[in-house]
Formats: sequence, structure tokens, C-alpha cells
Amino acid sequence: AKLASVQEPHYFDYYLMDKLLERVQIEKKLPHALENGEFELYYQPKVDSSSLVLTGYEALIRWNDPDHGRILPSTFIPVAEDTGFIVQLGEWVLREACRTNKAWQEAGYPKLPISVNVSAIQFRHPRFVHIVEAALEQTGLAPQYLELEVTESILNDPVIIKNKLDYLKERGISLSIDDFGTGYSSIYYLKELPLQVLKIDRTFITQTPEDPRDTALLLSIIQLGKSLGLTVLAEGVETEEQLKFLQAHGCDQIQGYYYSPPLSKEKIEALLYEETLS
Ligand code: C2E
Ligand code: CA
Ligand code: CA
Ligand code: CA
Repeated sequence: AKLASVQEPHYFDYYLMDKLLERVQIEKKLPHALENGEFELYYQPKVDSSSLVLTGYEALIRWNDPDHGRILPSTFIPVAEDTGFIVQLGEWVLREACRTNKAWQEAGYPKLPISVNVSAIQFRHPRFVHIVEAALEQTGLAPQYLELEVTESILNDPVIIKNKLDYLKERGISLSIDDFGTGYSSIYYLKELPLQVLKIDRTFITQTPEDPRDTALLLSIIQLGKSLGLTVLAEGVETEEQLKFLQAHGCDQIQGYYYSPPLSKEKIEALLYEETLS
């Protein structure tokens, strides 16, 4: 083992090289993966903080690569964003999520909204609104059962953004601001845009209530959301202590491993089936 440093004096950055190769490979493979049916949606329940009653689900994409196994979205979404492939991939996600939710409604499960993550690149595409409309039309899902999660990164083009969001809202589609507190956070936009849900980023929850600064920030974000009349949801809730804290401070909904991790379609259907029986 000691000889290794002698044989390898240049400290070539294999890690970086790996990352680069991985990127190029992913870029090449993405379109084929979509045609080949390698993508799958997982669904994470959202629940009411006080009653823990199901209030909706978030669709989260998974890639089952035949060579590498499961690839997480944090690895391939940024690549798909850079190449523009996210527009096509996002269209698939929208249709699949709407189709699944419609099927659940027809199976007699509680009628709840499904939320879909929308990248800024996808949102800015001139045909975005049309793509959303088409997904609803093709699947027959009523617009009030679709929720779009956007991040603060869409906010750098306020006028166009506002027009699109206004239109979607008028159509009855609900809009959430995702990862709140980590981006360009402008309180002004929060007031001006037609949002319904504020999702507090997990980073504010993780250290609560141990870290007094995170806790203070969390409390002020909850208050901000409430004072703007938004539904406030905390992401990444893992412990009972976090839940108790959020309940005590008026956070409306929670999502996180405490209640449930994202589940495959089969697993969440089993859960829904039990809920309908009880
Ligand atoms: P996000 O929208 O903030 O989604 C929440 C992430 O936190 C998910 O990771 C979820 O599995 C994870 N999570 C949920 N509860 C907990 C918890 O209690 N503890 C911890 N540690 N993590 C928790 P995931 O599924 O790996 O997705 C990562 C990100 O990839 C998402 O973050 C979202 O930004 C993006 N993404 C996922 N699916 C899509 C998609 O269909 N389209 C787009 N554009 N982006 C997507
Ligand atoms: Ca999200
Ligand atoms: Ca989030
Ligand atoms: Ca996030």
C-alpha cells in the first residue's frame, strides 16, 4: 500500500475524471433510457401535521439503469437540465403522474393532489403551459388534482413567470414554492406570485430544535408563509421531536421519513388500499 504513492506521483484527479466520464455517459444515455422505459416515479406522501391524514403525494423520478442500477435524480437531473432534455423528461413525468393519480381516483382511493417537480428550464420553455394542459387532457385528470413545485430559481424573469403562473392558477392548478429559503428568496415575489404552498427546505428542519439559529429561521419562515395566507409544509421531517415542534408552531403539513419515504407505485397503492379499508 505504501508503494502506491511512489507509483502515482501526480495525484491525477480520478474523482474529477470519473465525474466527467459519468456526465458524458449520462448525457448520451438519457434519451435512450426514456425510450427504453427505464424511468419510474416514486411517490412520497404529504400529511396534515396534526392528524397525520394524507393530503397529497409528491412524484419523484427514479432511473433504473440496466448497467448501473438505480441512479438518483441529483445525478441526472442537472445533466438533463444542461442539455435541455429535461423538457422531454419533464413531459413524461407530468403525464405519468397525472395518469397514475387519475387511475387512483378511479380505483376509489381518496381524491388528492399529486405534485410534480418542475425545473426552471422546463418552466421557461415557451410551450410549457401547453404541455401541462396536454397532460391533463390526455389523462383526464381534473386540474385541481395537479400541483406544480417550482423553485426560487424560476424567479429571475418575473414578468413572463407571473403571466404563466397566473394562467396556470386560473386553470385551477396549484403552485408550490419548493426548497424555500435556499435560493434567491425574495419576499416581494412571494407576495406577488399566485402561490398556494410554501415548502420549507429540509436544511431548516434537520437541526431543529437543537440549533437555535435554524430553529429561529424555521419559525420566521412559518410565520412569513402564514401571514401571506399560504399553506406551509415542512420537508425532510424525520423525528417525532421535529413533528411535535412543527405542530406546536402552526406548520400545516409535513413530508419526510418520519411518516414515509418515497414509495414505489406498488407500495403506495398498498398503503392507499389499507387507508380506504380503515
Ligand atoms: P426535492 O423536490 O426537494 O425532493 C425531496 C427530496 O428529499 C427527495 O429526494 C426525497 O426522497 C428526499 N427526502 C424526503 N424525505 C426525506 C427525509 O425525511 N430525509 C431526507 N434526508 N431526505 C428526504 P430525491 O427523490 O432524491 O430527489 C432529489 C431532487 O431531485 C428533488 O428534490 C428534486 O429537486 C429533483 N427531482 C426529483 N424528481 C424530479 C422530477 O421529476 N423532475 C425534476 N425537475 N426534478 C426532480
Ligand atoms: Ca419537490
Ligand atoms: Ca424540496
Ligand atoms: Ca431539495
